[in-house]
Amino acid sequence: MPVIKVIQYDITDLDVDIIVNAANTTLLGGGGVDGAIHRAAGPELLEACRKLGGCPTGEARITPGFRLKAKWVIHAVGPVWSGGGRGEPQLLESCYQSAFRLAKDAKARSIAFPCISTGVYHYPKEDAAHTALKVMYTHDKEFRSIVACCFDAENAGIYRRLLGPAASQD
Ligand code: ADP
Repeated sequence: MPVIKVIQYDITDLDVDIIVNAANTTLLGGGGVDGAIHRAAGPELLEACRKLGGCPTGEARITPGFRLKAKWVIHAVGPVWSGGGRGEPQLLESCYQSAFRLAKDAKARSIAFPCISTGVYHYPKEDAAHTALKVMYTHDKEFRSIVACCFDAENAGIYRRLLGPAASQD
């Protein structure tokens, strides 16, 4: 079984050590995957996030997972797409790198990522997938399982094409 896998699923229901959240700089919750994670983890998550005092774009912070199956949540802040000339590719890459750094420090063996920035932040999906996979490949010796957890069929199709059929689990 390959370390990097793609699934089309709700990330809040995954039984992995860590799920990554596509958060905003306030870390105080929002729509999309952020809202879903806060609903599933319970109000303790918002309390924990409040204490962190925000997070700059391109960085990440870690909290417990509270009522989630995942032990930890890493809140990673991806860039808003505004044409690509404002450092968006570097910021997206550093957001994935920061998440992996925190996951290693937490001694996680399995981690799942949503397609960061590809929702209301409008990052082009194919470009975002290339960046995500590039960073995932640089960490594939350190984890038992790295899951690209896509929610929409378009992202799932892109990741499946880029990873090849062997990486599909569903
Ligand atoms: P961003 O602001 O970073 O664009 P969004 O939450 O709007 O964040 O979208 C990021 C990605 O998360 C999108 O591809 C969206 O389809 C996906 N998503 C939304 N809900 C879930 C969920 N429950 N599990 C996994 N992915 C989700």
